[in-house]
Amino acid sequence: MDSTREVDVVVIGAGQAGLSAAYHLRRSGFEPERDFVVLDRSPAPGGAWQFRWPSLTYGKVHGMHSLPGMELTDADPARPSSEVVGEYFAGYERAFGLRVRRPVHVRAVRNAEEDGDGTGRQLLVETDAGVWSTRALINATGTWDRPFWPRYPGRETFRGRQLHTAGYKGPEELAGLRVVVVGGGASGTQHLLEIAPYAAATTWVTRRPPVFREGPFDEGAGRAAVALVEERVRQGLPPRSVVSVTGLPLNGAIRQGLRDGTLDRLPMFDRITPDGVAWEDGRHVDADVILWATGFRAALGHLAPLRLREPGGGIRVEGTRAVADPRIHLVGYGPSASTIGANRAGRAAVRDIRRLLREPSPSFAAA
Ligand SMILES: Cc1cc2nc3c(=O)[nH]c(=O)nc-3n(C[C@H](O)[C@H](O)[C@H](O)COP(=O)(O)OP(=O)(O)OC[C@H]3O[C@@H](n4cnc5c(N)ncnc54)[C@H](O)[C@@H]3O)c2cc1C
Repeated sequence: MDSTREVDVVVIGAGQAGLSAAYHLRRSGFEPERDFVVLDRSPAPGGAWQFRWPSLTYGKVHGMHSLPGMELTDADPARPSSEVVGEYFAGYERAFGLRVRRPVHVRAVRNAEEDGDGTGRQLLVETDAGVWSTRALINATGTWDRPFWPRYPGRETFRGRQLHTAGYKGPEELAGLRVVVVGGGASGTQHLLEIAPYAAATTWVTRRPPVFREGPFDEGAGRAAVALVEERVRQGLPPRSVVSVTGLPLNGAIRQGLRDGTLDRLPMFDRITPDGVAWEDGRHVDADVILWATGFRAALGHLAPLRLREPGGGIRVEGTRAVADPRIHLVGYGPSASTIGANRAGRAAVRDIRRLLREPSPSFAAA
């Protein structure tokens, strides 16, 4: 194994949140490779966007904010967002010389035993490409690597196919099949509207009645939604997605789906049978496929040795800083799990870390 390399800051993840943090580190005078590294397990630039299904075109994305310092302009709305964002992130990394190391999988972060030099305890970042020792950590690992599959009785008895949004490749592969879509978020409704023209039948089930939102989503409503999620992470509870508190925008496609019955929703089923799904009242829907559009959880398993989790199951965070350990920042987590939130969180984390490391001199120039 490589010997341990020393830096001031390790950024884990090169999605929107990690790249925003890397940009602000450079702007604050930190040199890539000398003072900080960005480690990303994905094979190519684009963060989780590179894995999203091809029919999620750039035009279908609700409001992707550009990264700081370089606008995404003239993107073709008909192209898959995976390609548009992948190319944009690649250009961004080059323009600012961010030198992302990939694919590098961070397996664990732990406290160094003792570091005797009086600079404060170091963190060891253990990866499949060696170990980095660092004074601060910006965790930007997103959620894509942790799809959430709720447990329902009978799941293992189902004879058809079960897949999650994370494995969805588009409607064509579901042509002619009877599909049950589970989940009341943006992904669930998008899947249904796409699949309905191809499938033999679709059924929509959600735990709570979906909330549709009339009119544009203004800044005030956005702030209120973020504040709700913020309050949860401050209390050490697992974050809910921002979308889960904003409601679904009542756009033209959704109105049409409500009119033609595609978005007729049933309450959550009680169990899964070999041939479909069933409710206590005796109702049964036959199905070939169950598509779980049930969201994702924060991918934080590699931080487990640091014991940051609260009894409530989340990590208490103030701003972006972990309350239990001020060297650690979570960006793109909870209230900052959106493209605009990730931008801001990257900046806030760097500002805080500069204070922690006592203000290195600013000497940034874009490469
Ligand atoms: C289907 C979908 C649609 C969305 N649409 C919108 C939208 O329209 N507008 C909007 O603002 N937001 C949207 N979002 C949310 C938005 O994509 C993210 O919140 C935002 O891009 C911030 O991403 P991130 O940088 O936190 O994570 P990601 O983009 O997930 O990047 C995390 C990176 O970390 C890497 N990583 C993970 N674990 C490790 C590890 N252990 N070691 C090394 N690397 C690791 C991953 O490989 C990945 O490259 C959407 C999300 C989804 C799932």
